[in-house]
Amino acid sequence: MKDKVVLITGSAAGIGKSTAKLFAGQGSKVIVSDIQEEEGSKTVSEIEDLGGQAIFIKCDVADKQEVKELVEKSIEKYGRLDFGVNNAGIEGENEKTANCTEGNWDRIMDINLKGAWLCMKFEIEQMLKQGSGAIVNVSSVAGLVGFAGTPAYTASKHGMLGLTKTAALDYATSGIRVNAVCPAVIRTPMIDRVTKEDNEALKSFESMHPVGRLGEPIEVAEAIYWLCSDKASFITGAAFPVDGGFTSR
Ligand code: NAD
Repeated sequence: MKDKVVLITGSAAGIGKSTAKLFAGQGSKVIVSDIQEEEGSKTVSEIEDLGGQAIFIKCDVADKQEVKELVEKSIEKYGRLDFGVNNAGIEGENEKTANCTEGNWDRIMDINLKGAWLCMKFEIEQMLKQGSGAIVNVSSVAGLVGFAGTPAYTASKHGMLGLTKTAALDYATSGIRVNAVCPAVIRTPMIDRVTKEDNEALKSFESMHPVGRLGEPIEVAEAIYWLCSDKASFITGAAFPVDGGFTSR
């Protein structure tokens, strides 16, 4: 993966940050992108301290112009785009379906689903020019099964899988592979917010996983890395669970 160029959205924290550090550690050139400028720049410094190459570009994935410029600036800097990891996402507010507000619905859809599509749109344009590329969308086990109290989040993550499969078919003969990972509960700032770091809430999440623990960001990063690599050359359109057995019950 040395000198491959990878763009990772939402990489100031959690799964995205871990993925950025993994790629950089293997010699890839990483575009760290996020709405959090300070934390994103910190990811870049941590990569550089370890001898890796990365730049930070601020971008809100829900904004078409910003996403267009993100991809343009990435190409200006590194000349090509080998991999797109569309990871930025929010949990929004937890409410039963009838209580979900329109504002919550729209915000989650704009970032999680439309954001992933906008990123794919401009990443694929560049990959078509190159005749090669791989995309990994970060969906969720909530893209595979229902999750009480999260109608918009669950719908957005199911939507990402439909989008992944469709793009995989659209570009199957163009040298572009498109896959998704479906993590269960992973120890990140998002989960700290959801559990409010309450021990009981954490235990209840742990008990949902047959392996008896939460996942770590690096365990998702490794799956993303592998799906981008040539080792996964015959894999496209997959929804790959990284879930400690969560969806096997
Ligand atoms: P996180 O909140 O720890 O990190 C997400 C990052 O995305 C943050 O740095 C945040 O600033 C950024 N972000 C938010 N809105 C953005 C926007 N509009 N534009 C650009 N960046 C934005 O979350 P995480 O747990 O690392 O989650 C990463 C992805 O994995 C999300 O799509 C999430 O839905 C998915 N996921 C997480 C879990 C989990 O248990 N942590 C499980 C399944 C799926």
